[in-house]
Amino acid sequence: MTEKRKVTIARGDGIGPEIMNATLKILEHSGAQIEPEFIDIGEKVYISGNTTGIPDEAWESLRRTKIFFKGPITTPQGGGYKSLNVTIRKTLGLYANVRPNVSYAPFIQTKHPDMDLVIIRENEEDLYAGIEHQQTPEVVQCLKLITRPGCEKIVRYAFEYAKKNNRKKVTCFTKDNIMKLTDGLFHKVFKEISVEYPEIETEHWIIDIGMAKIADSPQDFDVIVMPNLYGDIASDVAAQITGSVGLAGSANIGDQVAMFEAIHGSAPDIAGKGIANPSGLIQGAIMMLVHIGQADVATRIHNAWLKTLEDGIHTGDIAKGGASVGTMEFAEAVIERLGQEP
Ligand code: ATP
Ligand code: MG
Repeated sequence: MTEKRKVTIARGDGIGPEIMNATLKILEHSGAQIEPEFIDIGEKVYISGNTTGIPDEAWESLRRTKIFFKGPITTPQGGGYKSLNVTIRKTLGLYANVRPNVSYAPFIQTKHPDMDLVIIRENEEDLYAGIEHQQTPEVVQCLKLITRPGCEKIVRYAFEYAKKNNRKKVTCFTKDNIMKLTDGLFHKVFKEISVEYPEIETEHWIIDIGMAKIADSPQDFDVIVMPNLYGDIASDVAAQITGSVGLAGSANIGDQVAMFEAIHGSAPDIAGKGIANPSGLIQGAIMMLVHIGQADVATRIHNAWLKTLEDGIHTGDIAKGGASVGTMEFAEAVIERLGQEP
């Protein structure tokens, strides 16, 4: 039997605890060899007076286990709170955010049944450096930070990902017609590195028309690499095209540590109702299991999850007015399809 892998887990805020408990129940029944170490981060910690939202013992656990499975967290509005998501990505050096978006037609209604693309979002730089200034009482600015090493790292990651996953094309999105230096550098590095991968087709689109093309013909895309902010927007759009933002998971990859989560936020509008779709976090768990060398368990969960959707067991976000189940009921249906008693 594989030795149990220690994993740091944060349930998160809003719908976080509901979707995390549902996902952990699936993991328990799946034969995944993991040993959770729970940490508290986010709202609870902010309220206790710690303005970073993450206590020292949580960092200590993360540095030790190097694998983080995280529910969505809420950053309180205003009042000088830094986004905890941004802090975690930067502190742990999680430079690549990998976000697959797949259509599951005919089982989940979508206008684009042939969609299967992966957004690779730069995760540490760009406008997310969080460097903002008040110039005068009426003028504020935000610094857009792009570095050559940062671009090289993410672009190379995208090409290596494509190669490893047998993907045929890598597309780059920027707005370098306007931001000639910052996005210009990202595009330039993309062109330089693409030469090293002659077997992979490449293309570049200005982000606005690129997004319009994703909305219209997502089947034309394969792997897409882009700066941080564009990646945030593009992946919500792409996930929604597949049926719901509640369907997609993501891996945040660094040299030392990796973090796995759903792409969506803490959805305060539906928190506490037991109706959130746990699928995004389940996808995050599947990516985590592959990362820690338990691909067999990952496949088993993925198949049971697909079968659940195929059997028409849908949460409200994808039921489109039809019958729907709650968060835990959905998880229990997945567990039954693992051949287990929930
Ligand atoms: P963030 O800035 O953290 O990305 P956001 O502003 O994009 O957050 P979300 O929390 O992702 O907002 O929610 C966007 C919408 O999608 C909300 O209406 C929410 O209810 C819905 N939503 C998000 N996640 C889920 C889910 N797992 N199941 C069902 N609906 C969801
Ligand atoms: Mg969002």
